[in-house]
Amino acid sequence: MKGKEIIKLDVNELLKLLNKALADEWLAYYQYWVGSKIAVGPMRDAVARELAEHAGEELQHAEMLVNRIIQLEGKPLLDPRSWFEETNCGYEVPEDPSVESLLKQNIKGERCAIDVYNKLLELTKDKDPITAKIVLEILEDEIEHEADLQSLLEDLEKARR
Ligand code: FE
Ligand code: FE
Ligand code: MG
Repeated sequence: MKGKEIIKLDVNELLKLLNKALADEWLAYYQYWVGSKIAVGPMRDAVARELAEHAGEELQHAEMLVNRIIQLEGKPLLDPRSWFEETNCGYEVPEDPSVESLLKQNIKGERCAIDVYNKLLELTKDKDPITAKIVLEILEDEIEHEADLQSLLEDLEKARR
């Protein structure tokens, strides 16, 4: 397809990276979603609300990635077991349900995501502007996610003093 021919990158290599990001998004989705259910401690309602909102946004990222993968005639990861093989950022098991621990784990995940999408943006910006546009949109969200969690953590620390 012409839409694929105009890409000045190895499309198979790009598809591999998009699938790796897709694995990250699913794991981030679940980490946020389950975290929002189990959160305990001060400000738990505010924290749970933010975590649940982010879960929904990670799912949207998965949607954006999968649509681009299919548009490029790639095959999205079909087996959840492959998420752990392909992930860049891994999965932080929320063993400790305290809001502080959940926030710290998710901040770590967001910092990793920012790195992943920043690299993808560098790779695609002059070679595949359509993917670059999608990646930029996701990167904006991840930056906002990190900032949102960071301010909740700061509020929590202030409340403790
Ligand atoms: Fe995301
Ligand atoms: Fe995020
Ligand atoms: Mg938010």
